[in-house]
Amino acid sequence: MDRIETQASGGCQCGAVRYHVTAVLDTSHICHCRMCQKAAGNFFAALIGVPRDAITWTRGEPATFASSDKAARGFCRACGTPLLYDYAESKHINLTTGSFDEPARFAPKVQFGLEGRLPCFADLPLKAEGTTEETMAAYVGAIKATNHQHPDHDTDRWPA
Ligand SMILES: [Zn+2]
Ligand SMILES: [Zn+2]
Repeated sequence: MDRIETQASGGCQCGAVRYHVTAVLDTSHICHCRMCQKAAGNFFAALIGVPRDAITWTRGEPATFASSDKAARGFCRACGTPLLYDYAESKHINLTTGSFDEPARFAPKVQFGLEGRLPCFADLPLKAEGTTEETMAAYVGAIKATNHQHPDHDTDRWPA
């Protein structure tokens, strides 16, 4: 993962949360996994790695939801815009690429989480890296064991 020194800003839809970065990683990607789908409220999440020391929250701060005991999803508490995926043991945070002011600067190059990919996205012109089990082998067990995501059916009571 190469570090690219740059200057870029972004934030949520309502403007309550703004950030500035001084570097990104060359990891711009989309992830089709079920947890990213839920966190983004969409068919996939678009994310890019940013070294923790390269992020400044210039207005407000994201709220977070612990999607498992290992990772959190960050969003604006006022407008709900998804802003980040934070795996606690990682040296970088993933920001949502669509929240940057100029998202076209960080076009995705690869796709992950193929187990959740919709068939209509089978021909995307992006390198397919594999399923979550294949690409996140070191983490997937811990995430699954402490998953806090609501199941994909109605429940009488939640959390269970
Ligand atoms: Zn907002
Ligand atoms: Zn994912």
